[in-house]
Amino acid sequence: MTQKPTSPLVGTVYIVGSGPGDLDLLTLRAARLIGEADAIVYDHLIAEGVLGLARPEAEKIYAGKESSKHSVPQHELNRLLVSLARAGRNVVRLKGGDPFVFGRGGEEIETLVDSGIPFEVVPGVTSAVGCAAYAGIPLTHREHAQAVAFATGHLKDGTINLDWPSLARPRLTVVFYMGVGTLAEICRQMIAHGLPPDHPAAVVQNGTTQRQRVLTADLATLPGKVAAAGVTAPALIIVGTVVRLHRKLAWFSPRLPDRPD
Ligand code: SAH
Repeated sequence: MTQKPTSPLVGTVYIVGSGPGDLDLLTLRAARLIGEADAIVYDHLIAEGVLGLARPEAEKIYAGKESSKHSVPQHELNRLLVSLARAGRNVVRLKGGDPFVFGRGGEEIETLVDSGIPFEVVPGVTSAVGCAAYAGIPLTHREHAQAVAFATGHLKDGTINLDWPSLARPRLTVVFYMGVGTLAEICRQMIAHGLPPDHPAAVVQNGTTQRQRVLTADLATLPGKVAAAGVTAPALIIVGTVVRLHRKLAWFSPRLPDRPD
């Protein structure tokens, strides 16, 4: 009986975006790599059903990351990717949305670079783009917004560390990721830095999925409306006059709307 030799080859780590939720929004490249992977290290917010594309014998490792409760610390995760690749396995590091948009893809790659592990990055539809499309809210529009900004609403040291004067601008659409918990502060700062209280704003929860919910209001009233509706993560906040278009352009009817707008 011969023992299987350990592979002298180093595997490749593919940092793959799985899109915003709807499995159909996965790229062909992502689907192919997931189907070929020896190991898949996946996050909390990946497209539903995506692991079903993996080979049954592929090892599936949950890396977590639900806001503050990180199930695997980042440095351990980085080490895990390195050791899997050094064992000769091809690894898919599967993330929600796009790996380079609030996805820590950059941090994980730095460790791979330092360890000499080959890697590739596969972009995904980021949730701002996916949610805007499925909510019927164009992020840019010639009559409303000539620029769009993606910002994080995540608190660092108890404050949201953002350049508010550059975000509270007319003719700009701002999409806040990770901002449900800090929505009231975001709206307060946008008004304090010059936007009118009746400036349109929306929240999209579980965007692109059959549980999508869209709430539209304005900066003054959105926090109350969102609290009353019990909106929880994952959700995005879209601020800008493009939000007015939702009423006319909404086209997606989720099958399981728990509480419609
Ligand atoms: N890399 C991801 C973002 C990770 S940060 C991307 O490109 O989309 C996690 C945040 O993304 C969540 O807190 C939420 O604000 C947003 N998000 C992800 N999926 C979402 C969805 N289906 N609907 C609404 N927001 C979503």
